[in-house]
Amino acid sequence: MFKSMLEAFLNLFKPLHTGGYPAKEIVLPDGYRGLIEYDGEACIYCDKCEKVCPPGAILFYQQENGEKKYRYNPWLCIYCGECVRACPKPQEALWQSETKQQPALKEEGVNEQWFVWEAACQNSREAYTTAKKAAKTGTNEK
Ligand code: SF4
Ligand code: SF4
Repeated sequence: MFKSMLEAFLNLFKPLHTGGYPAKEIVLPDGYRGLIEYDGEACIYCDKCEKVCPPGAILFYQQENGEKKYRYNPWLCIYCGECVRACPKPQEALWQSETKQQPALKEEGVNEQWFVWEAACQNSREAYTTAKKAAKTGTNEK
């Protein structure tokens, strides 16, 4: 007990191992891939980025009118760049930037609501496919 308290006290006088951010500018290491950026205007909604994402940090919500909505979870993302490599419109729809600060998405509850959204996205697609099939076969009652 005494030993660990002494060690903790002595650590106060040792040099910092962290970068001193935000007082000190972050120096990006060689090979730094960067944060994920997305532009819905350039996106063709092919879903490739969603399919290849290892942790499932990208989701597309299917709206009733056929349009899709992009969702991204920067807290789940491992910044591997697979989505950018798979994207048919890299640097336009999806890219990695050297921005050092993550966009302030936390307020929207992105991470907290992720699993709820995951289920909602899945359901929205199933509902859309069912409605489309029904419309094709003329069994749509609307
Ligand atoms: S960088 Fe990797 S983990 Fe992050 S969204 Fe793209 S594919 Fe998913
Ligand atoms: S892979 Fe690119 S074009 Fe396709 S949905 Fe993702 S961001 Fe859009």
